[in-house]
Amino acid sequence: MNLALRLAEAGQLFPDQEALVFHGQRISYATLNQWVNRFASGLKKLGLTPGERVLIALENCPEFVVSFYAVLSLQCVAVPIDPLYTIHEITYIVRDASPALVICNAENISTFTRLTGNLAIPRGFVAVNPGQPYPHTRSFADLLSSSPAGNPPRPVDRDEVAEILYTSGNTGKPKGVMLTHGNIYSNAVTFARICGFGPGVRTLLVAPVYHSAAQTCVLLASLVAGATVVIHERWPGARTVLQTIQDEKITFFFGPPTMYVFLLEEQSGSFDLGSWKIAFCGGAHLPVQVFYSFEKKFGFQITEGYGLTETSPVVTCNPVFGTKKPGSAGLPIPGVEVKIVDYEGRALPAGQVGEIVVRGPNVMKGYLNQEEETQRAIRNGWLYTGDLGYMDEDGYVFIVGRKKNVIIRGGLNIDPREVEEVLYQHPQIFDAVVVGIPDPVMGEEVAAMILPREQQKPDPEEIKSFCAQRLAPYKVPRKILFMEGLPKTTSGKLLKKEVRKLLEQAQENT
Ligand code: AMP
Repeated sequence: MNLALRLAEAGQLFPDQEALVFHGQRISYATLNQWVNRFASGLKKLGLTPGERVLIALENCPEFVVSFYAVLSLQCVAVPIDPLYTIHEITYIVRDASPALVICNAENISTFTRLTGNLAIPRGFVAVNPGQPYPHTRSFADLLSSSPAGNPPRPVDRDEVAEILYTSGNTGKPKGVMLTHGNIYSNAVTFARICGFGPGVRTLLVAPVYHSAAQTCVLLASLVAGATVVIHERWPGARTVLQTIQDEKITFFFGPPTMYVFLLEEQSGSFDLGSWKIAFCGGAHLPVQVFYSFEKKFGFQITEGYGLTETSPVVTCNPVFGTKKPGSAGLPIPGVEVKIVDYEGRALPAGQVGEIVVRGPNVMKGYLNQEEETQRAIRNGWLYTGDLGYMDEDGYVFIVGRKKNVIIRGGLNIDPREVEEVLYQHPQIFDAVVVGIPDPVMGEEVAAMILPREQQKPDPEEIKSFCAQRLAPYKVPRKILFMEGLPKTTSGKLLKKEVRKLLEQAQENT
């Protein structure tokens, strides 16, 4: 079984069931299948052959879904990317992945055509809503309407690469993670089972679909199960999210912690949110304070999970329908093994912090064109995640931080998350991030970037004494920088490199 076959099967089983809803447009499983089939035959007409790569630079929209499934059903490789990438980032990816064809928004055509002078895209471009004709460009709608139905999808080797996802590149160069048909299918099916997805379930897609988390946990898990995905192009603001949950009777919402912070700030009293049963959070650590505030406000608990692009992505998750352990990323999902190991790869007992390693059907094939990095990441069948954590006596995983993010001040290790948790408790702080910056005496010094709740900046000395009452003296931030926004990726991940740079440049406590 694979994703494309499963979608074709869903088209037979529940043809009239809504698959996608987008700005009031309701697309049934039968229609979605027809579109995928016709679009695939259109792509074939453009000369696309199995194994070729197709760059998909689209926001969340039905065209993304149709493109993605059509590419997979042709046994080609999808390369979904952030449509807001700069020409510099796109150039890097086009050089690395050598796509044969690009599917993008009309607004992005000019960026891409600036590229084509130097980098050939042999099968040209397909543009969603092109305003004016560009050379070598076909319109998505024309291709769809002018193509006859093609062959139904066929079984594929589960080890064949289905897509390449570029990791956000917080450190080093972006890496193209090669995920196989088996990888994504197994993770989507397992996740759908854990969450009880099926016809009648209605999920909300607002996190970016070109990122592994929303792609698997919302889009693919819904479509393998016959559920309905309600789509917003991107985060539309907390009010619109609550409005959509009410109007579309959403049962499942997925988002990184930042989205929950915004939802907590919004007045929710006037909405009927009775349909909402699951609030899933992943991609970054969910502060315990946010977990409790959410439960108080919305009357149920957020389910935190953990994963990474390299694992398609879900590795662990709290019991979706049972009581969660606040602060924990939960238990390994069925079929996936997790170990905590020391620097020599030896398994550590419960309670001890080490590197999290993962083995299972969701572990990537490797990094594109980076054999050495692949060998460093996958050793003896285990993926070394670079994340630090421990397991408690019950097998629940607690993420402590990234190997590279630990602050070492005067030889003492400081977990930035512990300091962030304290800052989150401060009534005047909306969001905060803690990093280590170089210090001639201590090696590294603790520094915090803070997004205050109101316009007026809190007193930095008061924040320090607030921390000093709750943390050992060496963990108290020495430098504090107030900002109006924190540098984050669209998937809710902090750009720590950027944070560090700004903090290094800042004057003392500004
Ligand atoms: P990405 O490949 O962009 O999905 O990023 C994966 C990384 O996000 C992981 O390696 C972790 O560092 C981080 N991450 C994901 N989920 C969690 C979580 N629940 N708690 C802490 N960090 C997380």
